[in-house]
Amino acid sequence: MNLAERYRSVLANIEQAAARSGRSASDVELIIVTKNHPSSLVLELVNLGHGIFGENRDQEASKKAAEVSQAGAAANWHFVGQLQTNKVKSVISYASTIHSVDRPSLVSELAKQLAKTDKILDVFIELNLTDDLGRGGVDEPDLAALTEQVLGVKQLNLLGVMAVAGLAKDPRSEFDRALRLADQLRRIAPQAKGLSMGMSEDYQVAIEMGATHIRVGSAITGPRPNNA
Ligand SMILES: *Cc1c(COP(=O)(O)O)cnc(C)c1O
Repeated sequence: MNLAERYRSVLANIEQAAARSGRSASDVELIIVTKNHPSSLVLELVNLGHGIFGENRDQEASKKAAEVSQAGAAANWHFVGQLQTNKVKSVISYASTIHSVDRPSLVSELAKQLAKTDKILDVFIELNLTDDLGRGGVDEPDLAALTEQVLGVKQLNLLGVMAVAGLAKDPRSEFDRALRLADQLRRIAPQAKGLSMGMSEDYQVAIEMGATHIRVGSAITGPRPNNA
């Protein structure tokens, strides 16, 4: 399959997974993760009618966003990777949404850098679904406090939670955990109904379980040029 065929096939799968769970495909936002691929691939996808892309490293993303914009194409960038505080200033210059808010120091830096602008940034709080404290994502005991902190920053618009399932054979148990933590978050932030979960291997299951945002890379782009 070529790029257009893979893109259409994923769109058809989204449609079917949504239908299986009594939802509409329009309730699911597809973020195409283009990390390790050149801006030319982003431009091809823009030509196919897609406008929302995800990246996980600032250095690569800022360059790509600039190239795509110089080519006259409209793209909406979501940052989905681990975010170092010293990259915040750069990331908020091109990204509309950050999926990986996971610690107080990051929220403070976002507040500080956003205050110099008039931007409102959409964010998800990333969950740690493993029992390893200190992995990427907030640990369950810290979720409530981090949620309160985000709600206290006017320029952050909390959309919900983000989860990355591990390499378990069945992602359902991990997604179940994400749903439970999403409930906890909504007790504090009732409007934050978003659920960013599902990647190439598991987006159909994620949609059946209620995902509102899926982050799909290789199923559309093909294998990444370098390991990432
Ligand atoms: C790379 C990446 C994806 C997409 O992964 P694929 O398996 O290629 O679909 C999604 N989310 C995050 C956080 C990623 O880093």
